[in-house]
Amino acid sequence: MKDKANIKLEDIKKEAENRYGCIVQRSMYYITEFLSGPMCGRCFPCSMGCYEAKIRIAHIQQGEGQEEDIDFIAKISQQMYKSSLCKKGKDTALYLLEWLKSGIFQEHVNHCCGALQCPSMVQYKIIPRMCTSCGKCKDACRFGAIAGEKRKAYMAGYLPFEIMDKKCNRCGECIKVCPEDAIVLVCSE
Ligand code: SF4
Ligand code: SF4
Ligand code: SF4
Repeated sequence: MKDKANIKLEDIKKEAENRYGCIVQRSMYYITEFLSGPMCGRCFPCSMGCYEAKIRIAHIQQGEGQEEDIDFIAKISQQMYKSSLCKKGKDTALYLLEWLKSGIFQEHVNHCCGALQCPSMVQYKIIPRMCTSCGKCKDACRFGAIAGEKRKAYMAGYLPFEIMDKKCNRCGECIKVCPEDAIVLVCSE
């Protein structure tokens, strides 16, 4: 088993980048791993700063973020960079500042995850012209979130199936079963 305290920060960052295309998800993964691993808690700016940054990143990830959360993470990071006692705190501050600079946090505050990885900011949609009304998505949906009538050989004039966003829990099962690739993920409206 790996000794968490000795894991290198660059490795956590690399792992975050490999796992997540979305920079907000990436920073959440990094900060969570840092808090539970190599961060020793000996100095206030790093230990409290990371904890507070994690809370703010979570707000943003859950679609409840405000501009002030971004400003707060920036201030915390600058403070951490100046006052942390070791390189780990300083490097973490630099990573956070690098991710903040990308503009992706602002995008999330405006309720869009360009990488389509934050469940609170995506919607599943059926492209009407591609839907053949086979009903496979409706059968796969455990949440009763898909409306539509299956095509019958002796009837014409079918309406495409539709996803009712309020009932959808973003499990992604419908996308897996659609034979026409008629279901897509988009930024939520
Ligand atoms: S900056 Fe270094 S010494 Fe201070 S809490 Fe973070 S890891 Fe520990
Ligand atoms: S993502 Fe899941 S809950 Fe939403 S419509 Fe598809 S199968 Fe149903
Ligand atoms: S599985 Fe695809 S083609 Fe079939 S009803 Fe659903 S969206 Fe339409």
